Amino acid sequence: MDYQKRQQLYGAQRRQAQRQAQASSLQPPRPPTPPQAPRPPKPPQRKYLARATLTLLALLVAGGIIWLQAPWENAIGGASLFGHKIVKPAYALTPTDVSKLTETIDVADIWDTHYLVLVNRDHSITSQPSSALAQGLIASELYSVSNTVETLYDEDILLHGRALSALEELMHAAHNAGFDTLRVSSGYRTFDMQEQLYLETPDKSLVQKPNHSEHQTGLAVDIAVLNLTQDDMNFSPAAKWLVENSWKYGLVLRYAPDKQALTHISGEPWHFRFIGRPHAWYCWQNNLCLEEYLDFLEESGGYSTTLDGMNYTVVYEKAENGRLAVPPDSNFIISSDNMGGYIVTTWE
Ligand SMILES: [Zn+2]
Repeated sequence: MDYQKRQQLYGAQRRQAQRQAQASSLQPPRPPTPPQAPRPPKPPQRKYLARATLTLLALLVAGGIIWLQAPWENAIGGASLFGHKIVKPAYALTPTDVSKLTETIDVADIWDTHYLVLVNRDHSITSQPSSALAQGLIASELYSVSNTVETLYDEDILLHGRALSALEELMHAAHNAGFDTLRVSSGYRTFDMQEQLYLETPDKSLVQKPNHSEHQTGLAVDIAVLNLTQDDMNFSPAAKWLVENSWKYGLVLRYAPDKQALTHISGEPWHFRFIGRPHAWYCWQNNLCLEEYLDFLEESGGYSTTLDGMNYTVVYEKAENGRLAVPPDSNFIISSDNMGGYIVTTWE
């Protein structure tokens, strides 16, 4: 099947995949696999004892460094978010199998979802001038929130269609869990809206300059809790529920308090960003913000995992001669990362 046809079929395939994902209940976590300890050297000959001991020490130190640097291990016994103790990843990861990526497509022909695009203090939406994001073409992807989701103010709020469907599922689940006080307070912003907000906000640790806000992607949404100030929201059960459940719908808490050094935004319990599955799951499981996750993907090349009965393969690529490798017979979507990389997400 050629690429154009597959892209046309993509919508139907995605809906089917979503139905399958919804139909299967969440699987219980598997027991974590024990860490790989450095293999000790063979028993040394007596005259080589000192050298062997030094070698063993070096191995232990090197092993310790690798252990500490492995992104999926960083969370062990570490950060806690709104009281949630994050432990080791509950699902087995396997190295990415790139042997299935046997076709190539022209970067100019891809449909870029932008789901994993990085927009922050250091990365403007105009970093890649030719992208649809930079050219404002995402306007055609925007839909009104207020038809299906309760908003805080009586004004129209727009979101990217995929982010909106995730938000609808999240708000529905919140309602079923007894949280009826959640209201959407902000979604898509134009350059002018962001500029006005930036000028009007005294605390610049809570707002990005225009063209540096991911609200301009349509993929970010602010969710308020009725009758609570932003400061009080941190400690509310509703906010805690949002943080703990948003990943199931492909959304992540974007500005966790302990990630300010990387995001340059102080803790914002109301700001969620759609990045899709399995990415949101991975970030949640491993306590990674988007900056860390994209670094992890570039360094590792990606990963494969099974989540709710779906087999996902995530591959980080850079275009070679203007082309990206893709699998010929699987569902896949592609997102640029706004840093010159592309993430191909395949599921079956
Ligand atoms: Zn926000």
